[in-house]
Amino acid sequence: MVVAGVLQMVDVKASGSVKDYYQDDCAVQVYVARKAGLPLAELALAHLDTKWVYPGGGDYKGLLVENDLTKDVFGRAKEVEEWIATARTVASKRKEPESGTGSHCHDPYDCGFVGYCESLREA
Ligand code: SF4
Repeated sequence: MVVAGVLQMVDVKASGSVKDYYQDDCAVQVYVARKAGLPLAELALAHLDTKWVYPGGGDYKGLLVENDLTKDVFGRAKEVEEWIATARTVASKRKEPESGTGSHCHDPYDCGFVGYCESLREA
């Protein structure tokens, strides 16, 4: 339900289900939106209904399934602030961190620096 004067954010994913790590994405987006002063009251995550069949005539009703994640992500501001603080600490260092490559480089996505980091390991 959307109340007048407040906003609902809908994060649309190119996926057929809600993945656990989407909640972290949503927590960050809610944090940023609320810090920017948006009167955000609800957050939903939408994904494709993989059983949906286009009926024609420009009717896309039912293509997306919305999941209300408001309760799951609105209370995570402190956690997001800790992530930001950690990222700022890393970004402020003069030398890049030495964490090494591993499974974290591919889960949940392939990192864009894989080629670079693996070249360091080979050097
Ligand atoms: S490839 Fe990405 S995740 Fe893996 S060590 Fe390098 S920067 Fe970190």
